[in-house]
Amino acid sequence: MSAKDCNEKDIIEKIISKSNLTEKEIEKKIKEKISEFSGLVSRTGAIYIVGKEFGLNLIKTNNTELKIKSIVPDMTNVNFKAKLLSKSDIRTFRRNNKEGKVQNIILSDETGTIRMSLWNDEIEKIKDLDIGEHYELRNCYTRKNTYNDPEIRLGRKGLIKRLDSVDFEAIEQATPIKQQNGKTKQNFKDLKEGDYIETKATLTRMLSKDIIFYFCPECKKRLDDNNRCSTHGKIKKDILLVLNGVLEDNYEEIHTVFFRENVERLTGMDCKTIEKTVSDNNVTTITENTDILGNEYIIKGIIKPNNFTKKLELHTTEVNKLNTIDEIKTTLERIEA
Ligand SMILES: [Zn+2]
Repeated sequence: MSAKDCNEKDIIEKIISKSNLTEKEIEKKIKEKISEFSGLVSRTGAIYIVGKEFGLNLIKTNNTELKIKSIVPDMTNVNFKAKLLSKSDIRTFRRNNKEGKVQNIILSDETGTIRMSLWNDEIEKIKDLDIGEHYELRNCYTRKNTYNDPEIRLGRKGLIKRLDSVDFEAIEQATPIKQQNGKTKQNFKDLKEGDYIETKATLTRMLSKDIIFYFCPECKKRLDDNNRCSTHGKIKKDILLVLNGVLEDNYEEIHTVFFRENVERLTGMDCKTIEKTVSDNNVTTITENTDILGNEYIIKGIIKPNNFTKKLELHTTEVNKLNTIDEIKTTLERIEA
């Protein structure tokens, strides 16, 4: 029996005594966890999660080195080796009237990829890291991100050390999806009017505070501040949701416009809720409280010139939050095929 088997057995025994379940019932829960995480969590990882659900604080990995596939949310003292696949630009944002900074990096080993989020002062610690190089990470911890996937955090105790060599072949997967008419397109600046693209990118800032516009249903003119049409007077108003923002992938940015249901999808609010939020507070609340800035999306759209500036921008036709689990799964399938 290996040391690892022995460790698993110990943990399962602890769970049995804490939960009053039988070994068979525990095994069933472990299997359920593995399938809940689409097979991405190792058996050990699943045992940790089940233990945690029964209040056992097992997730102390000590000096064990983990593979990315085994990393789950809410672990402490996480040690692993990985290749740096990509680094996002540093993004600044305002939340509750405080300025914050965030930078994301993607790390990989032979079992998978994982995102590491660095906040504020932590960013300084990764400024000399080079893409394509291998690093050893120690004393990190993990959190669940908005898609329920594990995400690495460096914290105050975390250490990163460059490695000269490693004994694994890391997954190469940092390339953003940026397709135009089925072909991979490398740069936003090469796009021309009418191009249809699909891109994986982050909404980094808003370009205009207004996202709700009222129109006259008769003549389609914008209503004045008192919600009156200059021709038709007081009418039942038409609502249009428009969000102007900047979308950024690892390399560059593009002005992007979201209309109607795509604004609803982006904010996770329906039109009525957006209206109410705007009238109760102010528009900035929508971006500050909904987490839309800084999140990654898969966005499809068409390149069109702006009505006023004539500069090209992306008119979104579809927006989806990036599901990292699906993405990793696809990568693994590609590798195993
Ligand atoms: Zn009118």
